[in-house]
Amino acid sequence: MSDCIFCRIVRKEIPAEIIHEDASVVAFKDIQPQAPIHILLVPKKHIGRVMDLKPDDMALVADIHKIVQALARKFTLHESGFRLVANNGSNAGQAVDHLHYHLLGGRKMGWPPG
Ligand code: 5GP
Ligand code: ZN
Repeated sequence: MSDCIFCRIVRKEIPAEIIHEDASVVAFKDIQPQAPIHILLVPKKHIGRVMDLKPDDMALVADIHKIVQALARKFTLHESGFRLVANNGSNAGQAVDHLHYHLLGGRKMGWPPG
């Protein structure tokens, strides 16, 4: 069994503030929030990163986008705006090797990112 930290959150071995859960996706609050709303969306199955997605995983990616829309509405970010980020690999600073999308909102953000 994987000791990946996000796999452990999916299995409820590590506590997390879960915002959404269904058969294939879990969304929970980031432990070190970088914005007033900072939610991580992860597939329940272990996929390392964007580059590891297979054609069969694309329905899952679409589902994650549907959940992002629902959460943006739930947290009233749908009009003010939000950022959806998937760090992929070392130059992007990916720290956890389990695919995850950051949903960030509730403040004005700068561009370009650091
Ligand atoms: P990355 O840099 O890989 O894109 O982002 C990993 C994110 O996971 C970071 O924002 C970090 O704060 C968050 N994180 C790491 N460990 C935990 C944890 O145990 N629980 C929660 N809720 N978030 C975590
Ligand atoms: Zn994992």
